[in-house]
Amino acid sequence: MSDWDESEHPRHPRGTDQGGQFRLAAPTVSLITATTLEGWVAKVNRRLAGPVPPEWTPISQEQYRAELHAELSRDMPPDVVDMVLEDNVWPAGIWRAGDHVVAIQSPHLLHMAPFIFDQVNELQRRFPIAQPIRFAIVPEENLRGDRGVSVPGTGIFYISDDTFDEWPTHTNSGDPIPEGFTMPVGRSGPGQVEQWRYAMIHEWGHLIDPAARDHNLGVPSYEGHQRVAQDMVEDWSEVLSRYGASAAEEGVAEAFAEWFLTRGQTTNEAAQAYAAWLGWRWQ
Ligand SMILES: [Zn+2]
Repeated sequence: MSDWDESEHPRHPRGTDQGGQFRLAAPTVSLITATTLEGWVAKVNRRLAGPVPPEWTPISQEQYRAELHAELSRDMPPDVVDMVLEDNVWPAGIWRAGDHVVAIQSPHLLHMAPFIFDQVNELQRRFPIAQPIRFAIVPEENLRGDRGVSVPGTGIFYISDDTFDEWPTHTNSGDPIPEGFTMPVGRSGPGQVEQWRYAMIHEWGHLIDPAARDHNLGVPSYEGHQRVAQDMVEDWSEVLSRYGASAAEEGVAEAFAEWFLTRGQTTNEAAQAYAAWLGWRWQ
């Protein structure tokens, strides 16, 4: 499979050392340093591509570390917490809005913060999730070839920093990207959406997917959503992207990316069928 694959969703939402999903590699050094948070904010603000929405306020790495420590300690023994924190990549920039936290781990993407917050805000306004959002832009090498990772049933999701590159024109094996590789909204040409938005909204599709949430929470598949999701992906595989057709939960996420990025106006039949099933409304 190509580098477009995503791994299975981890069964243990807080299992940061389970399955390698959240074991991030050696710490990176932030390119922007300052002796005070205020000084740091001033430096970062000069790099941003526009104003940050006012509800998003920067927090220090120290504060972030303390909060992460408290959060992980609820479910993990102290030695595991220490190990996870030891291995974490300390973000170049961290912002908070209420309970929600967005971390940009890759220093070269700090300037994208305003666009990222706008997209988080829009997703949360239109398709809110109840849990605190923990969203990070993660160095590509730390996702091991995945474009994104999410933990349905929580607000935890990551996307790879290489999704901020241009869409690739060829696969890893050198073949041109085939038709149907993405949903129609991801196709090249005028009006094509940015790859990072597509990846981010795909992951949000997992977060709001009731079948994936049930799967994570251990609800048996015969009790509802998962069985329907399986029927859906089989019924609509012809008009889903190849990746969307590859698994029940990927069908939901790909349909959501298409539907959301066209503001519900897509003529793609799969996206409309999923919207009808899951009650998606553009509001
Ligand atoms: Zn996915």
